Amino acid sequence: MLTPRDIINCPQRKISLATLLSGLVALSVALTFTIQLIASYQSKKRALFDTTLTLNHSNAMKMSLTMDSLFKSMRGSLQYTAGIMANNPLMNEEIRYEHLELMRRSSGYFNSIVAVDETGIMRSIAPQTAGTAGKPLSTDASKEALALRKPYTSKPYISATGRLIMFMSEPLFDKDGTYRGLIGGTIYLQENNIMNTIFGSNNIDELGTYFFVVSSDGSLLFHPDRSRIAENVSRNQVVIKTMQGQNGSEQVVNTRGVALLAGYSTVQENNWGVVVVSPIDKVYEQLNRDIRTMLLYMLPPFVLLMLAAVWLARRLARPFVSLADLVSKLGKEKVDLPAPQSHWNREADLLTRTIMLAVADIRERTDQLTQAAVTDPLTGLANRRTMEKAMNGWIAEQAPFSIIVLDLDKFKSINDTYGHQVGDEVLKVLAETMKQSVRPIDICCRYGGEEFVILLARTSVPEAFIVAERIRRTMEESVEPVGKPVTLSLGIAHYPSHALAAEALFLQADQALYEAKRMGRNQTVITRSYEFSTE
Ligand code: GH3
Ligand code: MG
Ligand code: MG
Repeated sequence: MLTPRDIINCPQRKISLATLLSGLVALSVALTFTIQLIASYQSKKRALFDTTLTLNHSNAMKMSLTMDSLFKSMRGSLQYTAGIMANNPLMNEEIRYEHLELMRRSSGYFNSIVAVDETGIMRSIAPQTAGTAGKPLSTDASKEALALRKPYTSKPYISATGRLIMFMSEPLFDKDGTYRGLIGGTIYLQENNIMNTIFGSNNIDELGTYFFVVSSDGSLLFHPDRSRIAENVSRNQVVIKTMQGQNGSEQVVNTRGVALLAGYSTVQENNWGVVVVSPIDKVYEQLNRDIRTMLLYMLPPFVLLMLAAVWLARRLARPFVSLADLVSKLGKEKVDLPAPQSHWNREADLLTRTIMLAVADIRERTDQLTQAAVTDPLTGLANRRTMEKAMNGWIAEQAPFSIIVLDLDKFKSINDTYGHQVGDEVLKVLAETMKQSVRPIDICCRYGGEEFVILLARTSVPEAFIVAERIRRTMEESVEPVGKPVTLSLGIAHYPSHALAAEALFLQADQALYEAKRMGRNQTVITRSYEFSTE
């Protein structure tokens, strides 16, 4: 069975209310913060992805349009020159060269321009460093163009001089419609060319965005990494779409396994593809930078909120904590009830008042019980147990004292004559008389029935005798409450003169009392052994 001590000493660890409330509040603030952060992250990510895709798409569109008109102009300038050449067959070498060089320099479309006759001999080449006039064509692309007799655009290929190039040509037909060869323009793909000039050197921005151009068969014509030019990237999903003439934007993994956000568009005129891409890694880096900045702004208000909430939680818990402390001390030590305080929280206020009332009530009852345990209810004097305790205490301290034992004379007849209630009144009168006759440090008690005891601290036998006689005479002279005096007999003994133990001392006094009864009652007798004492 549980004892109160077991309940108090329950070994389980308990969480304090303040900790619990603070913890709950801190947890909810932290959770709110986290959710907010995740939501912001997701929406920012979506926005950044969408913006990047849209921007890349629109840039790809613009570039493909530019590329389209560029290509038309290039073809136009070849056609124009071809027209002049075809209709002036007598044009000498020098003038022909001048024409080609003028066209090359003024437009900047081609890195080199060549005039070839119908037999495949290069008649003129500008600039002169690009090749030797009078020699036959050497590459498959130029031979194919010559044989085709139509406007021609090659795929990227390695030239006779070892350059990676692209070749565009227009056939020459004279007034009679006779085929006279071709005019061809070359773009050096890995050197400064018209595409660099128009689209810049393809600087990679802070999002890592760059673009590349692919031919209709998926070979790279333009790429910031020049070493990749001519590489076939037709496995790339986005490149496939440009080869199919589509445009749009999507997330894609390129042929090297890099995830990209790509915008793409096809050049109408030649079915080339323009692709603008941003590596997803870089987009995430940007996103993380944005989130860090946001954190920096979000954190201080949240920390403040958390501190305020914890402070409030502690304030809220305080009255409960002090009540719990107060209640836990009850029964262990004597506690002073604190002055009643009103609290702004309704429950705390109610609980404080209720507990204060309960504690005050318990204390009053305890005091009453304590009082009842040590006193006699009829006379209000100390009871026998209290008397024995006091006597033993004094003996332990070896403090000298006198004891008077009192007993009403013929009390039975009072009861019989006047009734038990009147008898009780007599007992009360005697008790009052006893109290009036002693000092506050002396102890009066009802030993039992109509027998009483007085312990007189530091009192000698003669002094005790005076007190005893005072009481006896007061009773003898009073007619209260029965209308005639009720007398009593008294016996006296002294510690340590007559006995050293409480029981023996009491017996001494009681024997003296018996002696007083025997000698006719209404008198005080000092224990006989007193006469034999050495004092
Ligand atoms: P004596 O002491 O002079 O020899 O005679 P007595 O009649 O006083 O002695 P006894 O001990 O025979 O009687 C004591 C009586 O006291 C018996 C009982 O009726 C009465 N008494 C004891 N306690 C109480 C009490 O609480 N109230 C009242 N009214 N009477 C009590
Ligand atoms: Mg008696
Ligand atoms: Mg008596």
